[in-house]
Amino acid sequence: MAKEKKGVRLEHISKIYKDPKTGKNFYAVKDANLEIEPGSFVTLLGPSGCGKTTTLRMIAGFESPDEGEIYLGNEPINALTPNKRDTAMVFQSYALLPHYNIFDNVAYGLKLRKMDKAEIKKKVTDILGLVGLEGMENRMTNQLSGGQQQRVALARALVIEPGVLLFDEPLSNLDAKLRVSMRTEIRRIQQEAGITAIYVTHDQSEAMAISDKVIIMNKGLVEQISTPQDAYYYPNNRFVADFIGEANFLDATVEGQDMVNINGSKVKCATGSFAVGNKCSVVLRPEGASLSENGALKVKVAYSCFMGSYQDYHVKVGDTLVKIQDYNPKNSKIYKVGDEAYLNFAENTLYAL
Ligand code: ADP
Ligand code: MG
Repeated sequence: MAKEKKGVRLEHISKIYKDPKTGKNFYAVKDANLEIEPGSFVTLLGPSGCGKTTTLRMIAGFESPDEGEIYLGNEPINALTPNKRDTAMVFQSYALLPHYNIFDNVAYGLKLRKMDKAEIKKKVTDILGLVGLEGMENRMTNQLSGGQQQRVALARALVIEPGVLLFDEPLSNLDAKLRVSMRTEIRRIQQEAGITAIYVTHDQSEAMAISDKVIIMNKGLVEQISTPQDAYYYPNNRFVADFIGEANFLDATVEGQDMVNINGSKVKCATGSFAVGNKCSVVLRPEGASLSENGALKVKVAYSCFMGSYQDYHVKVGDTLVKIQDYNPKNSKIYKVGDEAYLNFAENTLYAL
């Protein structure tokens, strides 16, 4: 549906703000280098204040970078005002026109472009079909639920057929259940429209559910750009490992090729570029190990709780408390607080940082 899918490239982009409290300048975004493929769905993910909105607003043209250049397709766009950029933004607040009906809200951008009436009608009708609001043209936007308003906002952005669609936490005003169904809808609509999407969220599960790639940010810096799977299994650093899902960190020493020593036991672990003798921190996801009578690493159970789909354990490896989710516990032995047991690791599950 989009005229042309466009890629976005950020080269050495920085934004400096003055902290109103201290009066000091700081980098809200520092030396960001990003390449977003045409037609892909990419999420800027990170905790509040890490620079996601600032990055998105620089792409949209609402803020200008202090350093670096932004490209839309092959065109440098720093000098272009937002309306000249071939981008459209969907806001958290929807920003709908309250005294207009759905049709007029969606048609607004096309009327500004002086498009002819019959063409506007066709385009608006098509888009309302795509976002699941067919037949609702005459409803006033202040009579709609939050989810419906979000669909109108999305239709209004899509109808002008931008090269790139930008979203800033679009679901944060919706309740938890609706957030989950709307994110699936947004992904479907992006795929059907065949459009490049850049999406800002602080919610890691939302990011994992919808993205081809995640761009993980922390304090103005890009920490990792990868598929959600690679961010989860092969985090670049402790921040990423902690931010994406839950992680345990075990102190270890490299013993050999893909072999580490944890608390006196030899354990198989991907060691990357670490040399023998190096200290490292081994990332263990809670679902990456189970408890049994014998195995790789001896532990003591400090907490044990039945959660239905898994048995939730906290176990002690030396002095380190490790959280384990032992899935489908119906037919396995349940360990109690104070029991000794062994951790068994799933194949290829440990990763050294
Ligand atoms: P995020 O969207 O990841 O929560 P933002 O990009 O909004 O973060 O903000 C990044 C940092 O820049 C924060 O410390 C924020 O307080 C600061 N900031 C954002 N806009 C301004 C501004 N106009 N003036 C000064 N500081 C700002
Ligand atoms: Mg923000």
